[in-house]
Order: sequence, then structure tokens, then C-alpha cells
Amino acid sequence: MIRLKNRGEIEAIARSGAIIAEVLEALRDEVIPGVTTAKLDAFAEDLIRSHRGASPAFKGLYGFPATLCTSRNEEVVHGIPSSKVQLREGDILKVDVGVRLNGWYADAAITYPVGNIDIQAQRLLEVTREALLLGIEAAVPGNHVGDVGVAIQRVAESAGFSVVRDLVGHGLGREPHEEPQVPNFGKPGQGPRLVEGMVLAIEPMVNLGRAEVSTRDDGWTVVTWDGSLSAHFEHTVAVTNGEAQILTLPSGRRSEALEAWRAISSG
Ligand code: MG
Repeated sequence: MIRLKNRGEIEAIARSGAIIAEVLEALRDEVIPGVTTAKLDAFAEDLIRSHRGASPAFKGLYGFPATLCTSRNEEVVHGIPSSKVQLREGDILKVDVGVRLNGWYADAAITYPVGNIDIQAQRLLEVTREALLLGIEAAVPGNHVGDVGVAIQRVAESAGFSVVRDLVGHGLGREPHEEPQVPNFGKPGQGPRLVEGMVLAIEPMVNLGRAEVSTRDDGWTVVTWDGSLSAHFEHTVAVTNGEAQILTLPSGRRSEALEAWRAISSG
């Protein structure tokens, strides 16, 4: 069952989303060569908890031990922050974060360049970011969930990259994961019809090489099967009667907020 949200409920999710946007923006200056992912995790948890009533959504979720998922280079998603993982110049780091506030969840992710990254990695980040934005553009009433996937897949594959099939976006709200599933691939008109009041986490995971992934022995970290780089960007959005409202952007007018958001993951 897809649970639709009213205006007030979407505003409540946006308040969780605003904290996420603040965390991802603040992390930009922290994601530097030499830092450990455990330090980033502590920084994010402190910042989230500095907001009265807010808590990290992932900590304890299905037994996940941390505030952030931190996934480096060929790690796709669900990497566990560690004091043993120290970032190096040229790495890319995916940070996925969820916040719960007053019982409402939001979820977003960004891929950060660590220092200077090579041109191929830069292009992977740009393409994945634009795939997300075009997926969001397709999230309008009358379209179907599959149209979002089509838009994402088209951008990624026409750049010569592949989209991960084994992991998908999702609905969210009172729960961190709700129906429907939102694949990053599909066919036009496939899946549930989009209607006003749906709140979705749209989250392309794009690989430089093949689409296949596997899970490491820690039971969490998803990696590309061929060891190629992977990028991940995610926003929580609400379907409205016009263009989708993005609930996890920095504050301000949409065009300025999008610019600020792009700048976070630019070299
Ligand atoms: Mg997420």
C-alpha cells in the first residue's frame, strides 16, 4: 500500500530533510584527505542531535551500527564508518544519511570528491547527479514510477555507464522504507501511477563498469562486482500537482538551492 501524505505531513518530512541538507553541506569541508569515516560519522551524529528531537534514522535500522553510510570508490552503498578507513586524495566518497524528526523520515545521499579526482570520476559524478535531477523531473502526476527509472537509465547509459539493478529507491514517511520501490531503470508507463502526495527517495547508483554488485563479508558493504567506481546521489521528493518538491535541498529559492547542492559535490 502506498501511503499518500498531505501538505502538513510533507512539511514535516521537509523539516527532517532540511537537517539532512545541513549535514551534507557541512560535511563538504570535512571530507578531506586523511580524515577517517568514523570521524565523519561522529560529526554528522552530533550535528543531527543538535536539533532538538532529531535523531539519525539509520543507526540501529536493521542493525546498522552508524549514523552515516560511507562508501568509498568501488563501494556502492551501505559502507560502515570506521576509524581504520582513512580517505586519500583522489577517492570518491558516498555519504548516505537519514534523519527522523517528530516521527517523520527523510533520506539523501551525495558523492564527494576527496581532494582532486581524475576526469573519469568527475564525469561519473556529473552524470549521476544529472540522472537524479532528470529522474526527479519525471516524477510528476500522470507519469508512472517506471518513467523515473527510464529517465535515470537513459542518462547513465548514454554516457557509457550502467545503473545498479539490485538496489532501488523507495517511498518513505512514517517509515524509512515504504512502498513503492523506485528502480533506476524501467520501461515507460511501468509500475504504479504517480499521484500528488507520494513521497519518494529517488537514488541512482551508477557504475563506471558493469551493473552487477556483490556484498562484502561484513554483511553490509555493497561493492561493484568488477571493482569499478560507483556514484550515488539521492533526494527525498514529494510529488505535487506540478514539478516535484525536493525536500532535501539547501534552503533558498529552488535554482539557488540546486546550485548550492551541485557545488557540494563539485571539485
Ligand atoms: Mg538513502
